Amino acid sequence: MEFKYHVLTGILVPGFLYFYFDIPILAAVTISLASVLIDIDHYFWYAAESKDLNPFNAISWYIRSSPKIKKMPSKKRKEYTKGVFIFHNWICWSILLALGFLNQIFFYTLVGFVIHIIPDLVVLKKIDESILQKISLGYVLKRNKNKKRITDL
Ligand SMILES: [Zn+2]
Repeated sequence: MEFKYHVLTGILVPGFLYFYFDIPILAAVTISLASVLIDIDHYFWYAAESKDLNPFNAISWYIRSSPKIKKMPSKKRKEYTKGVFIFHNWICWSILLALGFLNQIFFYTLVGFVIHIIPDLVVLKKIDESILQKISLGYVLKRNKNKKRITDL
């Protein structure tokens, strides 16, 4: 999903939880931040993949290539690698869930991630892409073998 919509849901959903379910303000803020900041893993991936740590280059690559990738026929899109995102996968969520028993902050972070991931999956489904790419690192790593690098786009 586009970043601006993540920001919007990242404000509306925790706001709703705060006002209607009376969750603590710290929980609402954590959920809100987590639901937006989860996408920092896109930068980590871009930096590792392109060997370029400059965040502005990462942002400009995303701005340039996102419309191209979206417009690409799904057959052509399948020729390219997918991003390897360390927060968009079930292992990360399981760790957060386990840590949530030690400290609620991790649980709120997980809630924020869920708020982010659900629309991500809906968008993937809409453009006829496998939702596994935002659930399983193993799937992405296996799938990326012998594909053209999407960062060269
Ligand atoms: Zn995302």
